[in-house]
Formats: sequence, structure tokens, C-alpha cells
Amino acid sequence: MMREETVFGPIFSRRLGSSLGINLLPQHGKVCNFDCIYCECGWNKDGLQDRTIPKAADVRKALTAKLEECASAGTRIDSITFSGDGEPTLNPDFPEIVDITLELRDKYCPEAKVSVLSNATMAFKDDVFRALSRVDNPIMKLDAPTDEEVALVNRPVGRYSVEEVVRSLERFGGNFVLQTMFLKAPDFRSGNWVGGWMSLVRRLKPREVMVYTIDRETPMKGLEKYTVEEMRALVQPLIDEGYKIQIKG
Ligand code: SF4
Repeated sequence: MMREETVFGPIFSRRLGSSLGINLLPQHGKVCNFDCIYCECGWNKDGLQDRTIPKAADVRKALTAKLEECASAGTRIDSITFSGDGEPTLNPDFPEIVDITLELRDKYCPEAKVSVLSNATMAFKDDVFRALSRVDNPIMKLDAPTDEEVALVNRPVGRYSVEEVVRSLERFGGNFVLQTMFLKAPDFRSGNWVGGWMSLVRRLKPREVMVYTIDRETPMKGLEKYTVEEMRALVQPLIDEGYKIQIKG
């Protein structure tokens, strides 16, 4: 179970280089309006012990301190990613925090790319949408093409509609990254879920699609991952149509 400080890292990855993480959720808990069967933070019910959400001023302080520390140690920062113990856009200060992050990025590490990993449920809100549009990489989750399948995989807390989320994603005009979890088992999606999902990709035309599978321990047991080759075969029609697809095994 991941429990992260407000600003963590840098961690080094081949894909992102030297990467700082920002967790806008509690340091010792989880806050999300999904409860995905594969969530690396565990089930929502197990993350209730801490409900303290960092405010914009806390993030400014923590990020400034970390960036100054990196500058004095000569540590290069290639990316700053909002990913933490839950859904970052649920933090009421999210739009202001994006502006603070972009301001500090410009000051300390202008080459670094700012990314946000989001489940897209709050993109219908104008201020959240505008903030997501300002970062370099808004990476938006859409795991399944029907409400029934989303209910099984993402287990939304409260009302959820794929159609409404897709409509809010259409506002990006394709200028976003779509991220989808591919699970081989349990196979409770409809026989045509890949086809239905590809239709949504064609409708949204994201500038990039990231397809990935489970990597660590998951709260639901018995999940099975696809191999990279299997995922590539599933998305081959989109590759043939010229979509840029990143497949992460
Ligand atoms: S949307 Fe992300 S943080 Fe929320 S439950 Fe799913 S995987 Fe976990």
C-alpha cells in the first residue's frame, strides 16, 4: 500500500527520468471517488485513518523546499507528476496548486514536464478542466466502455456515467493522454469491451494512449495481467490507424 508525503522523490525511471511526485491526498490515508480492484493504494475502507488534505500553501512550501534541496544538490528534475494516495482533482485547491506547481517549475526546472494522473471524474468542472489543460500531460483514466463494466473494475463511489465523462474529455480536443488498465482476469467485461473501448478512443482522438496492466499487489486477489504482446495484439487496430500507443507491461 503506497502512502506518500505531499512531495516525494525524486525517483528515477527510464521513461520519466528524474521524477518528483506530488500527493494531494492525506499522507496516511486514501481519498478517491473510485475504489478500483487494482488500486495500488488499497481499498478506500482501509485508508480512512487520515483525512488531512494538503492545502495550496502546504504544497507551495513542500515543493519549494524540495526543489531548493534538489538545486543545491545538483539533482536534475525531468518531471513532476501528481499521483498519490487517491484522486488529485478531489483536492479543493487543485486548480491553485497546478498554478503554483507551474510557477515553481518555471523558476527551478523549466525543462521538467508536469503531468497529472486523474480518473477524469472531475473534468466536467470548469476550473478542474482548465487546470488539467494547463499541465503538459493530463493523463486521464478510462478503463471500460460501459457503466456496468466501470462499476465492476473501478467501483465508483456515487453516480458515474461513461457518456458524461467522455463528453467532458471531448473538451480537450484530443490534447490529452488516455490511460487504460488492461486486466486479463477476472474476465467480467463484455466480450466486446476492447471494441467498445476502441470506439471511445476513436471518438476522443487522444494525442497518446497508455495501455498498462497490474504491476504490484492489488486489493482484489486473483487479478491476472496481460503480457505486452497480448496487449499489443488487442490494440493493433488502433496502431494501424496511426494512434500513438504506449504499452506498459
Ligand atoms: S482511480 Fe486511482 S487512486 Fe482511485 S481507486 Fe482507482 S487506481 Fe486508486
